[in-house]
Amino acid sequence: MPYKDKETAKKRRRELWSNRTPEQKERRRKRVRLHDKRPERKEYQCKRRFAAKVEILTYYGNGNPVCVTCGESRLACLSLDHINNNGAEERRSRAKYGYNIYKHLKAQSFPSGYQTLCMNCQFIKAHERQGFYREVSGSQ
Ligand SMILES: [Zn+2]
Repeated sequence: MPYKDKETAKKRRRELWSNRTPEQKERRRKRVRLHDKRPERKEYQCKRRFAAKVEILTYYGNGNPVCVTCGESRLACLSLDHINNNGAEERRSRAKYGYNIYKHLKAQSFPSGYQTLCMNCQFIKAHERQGFYREVSGSQ
């Protein structure tokens, strides 16, 4: 607001701030919580995301967080695979990545069409699907 003198502007801002409606206060509180960068908060969120990942990978790994093809159990290389190769399509329609897909699957009470795979098996699956190996093994 273009006030002529700064004191009036300050006074007006203070007035607006102290006369906020409960909805405005709640909105503000939510926004602050969302951008909370305190280390303890970050650690909590990190743990929560990790727990969600383990839970989802355990469910889709048939009871253990392991790759369903080769049995790899190191969590760092495990990922969620779309059995019908419709991941790109799904991301396009719902735009869910990372933690949000875990949250989404949990909210939908674990729909089918997913499995736990390690990245090696993911790449092998992709290569087999795209036929990169067919030419090589055919010429041998
Ligand atoms: Zn594997």
